[in-house]
Amino acid sequence: MNTPKIPDFYKKVILVNRPVGLPKESDFSLADTPVPIPKDGEILVRAHYLSADPFQRMRLDEKSGYGKTLNIGDTVLGRIVGDVVISNNPDFKIGDFVEGMLGWQEYAISDCSNKRAEYAPGITKIDPTIGSISSWLGILGFPGITAYFSLLKTAKLSNNENVLVSAAAGAVGSIVGQIAKIMNCKVIGITSTQEKSQYIKQKLGFDESISYKETKDITKQIKKIFPQGIDVFIDNTGGHIADSVFPCLNQNARVVLVGNISQNNITTKTKRTDFQNIFMSKRIELNGFIVYDFENLADEARNKIGNWLNNKKIQFPQTIEEGIENAPKAFISMLNGKNIGKQLIRLKISKEKNT
Ligand code: NAP
Repeated sequence: MNTPKIPDFYKKVILVNRPVGLPKESDFSLADTPVPIPKDGEILVRAHYLSADPFQRMRLDEKSGYGKTLNIGDTVLGRIVGDVVISNNPDFKIGDFVEGMLGWQEYAISDCSNKRAEYAPGITKIDPTIGSISSWLGILGFPGITAYFSLLKTAKLSNNENVLVSAAAGAVGSIVGQIAKIMNCKVIGITSTQEKSQYIKQKLGFDESISYKETKDITKQIKKIFPQGIDVFIDNTGGHIADSVFPCLNQNARVVLVGNISQNNITTKTKRTDFQNIFMSKRIELNGFIVYDFENLADEARNKIGNWLNNKKIQFPQTIEEGIENAPKAFISMLNGKNIGKQLIRLKISKEKNT
């Protein structure tokens, strides 16, 4: 394959203000930068899609939770998929597609290592026969791997159990619900609006759904429409939604703390209820979950999910914004719950349409 035309300069998204509460578009800016030249063993990747993920919000804070924090002026940390345009590594050729945490930028260098966690310049080579390149940021990427392992390894889900997932219409939640349905489980999802509630029932096959913005007493509503109780709770939100679910857990239930997005944009912490007695008396298992612990097993999840995709047993909704200049807008929109499924930003170079 011929070397694609590479410009002298490219655009990247940088942090210019540390947000307080919900970020604003003015907290970010576009910067023009000379395209770097890869050294021996490295490749130059041209981004086709940027991923907007909740963890990026935590990285904007001075104290960033379990990951490193961004400094003002840094390129926004984020996952991308793109094609190789220069290769100085025999394992990668021009035209190969890769996925990695290479930052919100049009061009990026990777050292081709398998260090793919935060701030590591490693990559995963994409096999486009398993799924579209954009799906490698969603159902075949970290959201899919999170859904798969949180349910099957951490919660040890069995067939015919009763599952509840919060942020149910999002990238992780939509896949959690569908995998649980494949396992013949009964599934209830909690999401913000009626529209998203209807979507997960009608399009994704959830059995029940609750719109938390339109439900006064979530605990009462769960007990009413899902009287069998919850065996597995995949918690993507934390806060008062999680507190409303805990009284509905069954004996020996498993709770997986995957995310706490409800707490990421607030300036005063939500007052939480003490559920120690429920956890103790019902012998409930509470597990923290970090997807990087399952990186070495990612191919297992991808192969399994790939088969489900092939057999049309699972879908991957996406919400796509166009253009790197709109990446902050897409990110804020996702934090506001405007997305259904995976929030992506498609760059002009991409030829992939309607995925
Ligand atoms: P997502 O669900 O596609 O998008 C975020 C969703 O969060 C929004 O669509 C919105 O849905 C919901 N949300 C926003 N503010 C909220 C609030 N105040 N209260 C309740 N819900 C709120 O994102 P995702 O990538 O799938 O991630 C979901 C969760 O999993 C996040 O907490 C993320 O940090 C976590 N995660 C963790 C790991 C890990 O390794 N531990 C890996 C991946 C993701 P609604 O419209 O329904 O409110």
